[in-house]
Amino acid sequence: MEIGCPVCNGLLSIGEVCKNCQGVMEDMGRIEDYYNPYSPYEEQDKIPQLAESPGNCIHLFACTNCNEEQQVAIPLEKI
Ligand SMILES: [Zn+2]
Ligand SMILES: [Zn+2]
Repeated sequence: MEIGCPVCNGLLSIGEVCKNCQGVMEDMGRIEDYYNPYSPYEEQDKIPQLAESPGNCIHLFACTNCNEEQQVAIPLEKI
């Protein structure tokens, strides 16, 4: 048995509602992947502070309507 993120492993899908416009937020994947140092993302100053959260997988959700972004901590589970 392994510990892993149920969302990354496709076991769970999370529907977040945008607090800005009540629109549907889409899972953009792990924030570590999204803001990795090799990404072409040049606005490094805008990288959000990553909370130290062992035992959680931090996902970035983005609103499909207004592009509001939100970090969601997914608790790791036995998979
Ligand atoms: Zn994950
Ligand atoms: Zn929105």
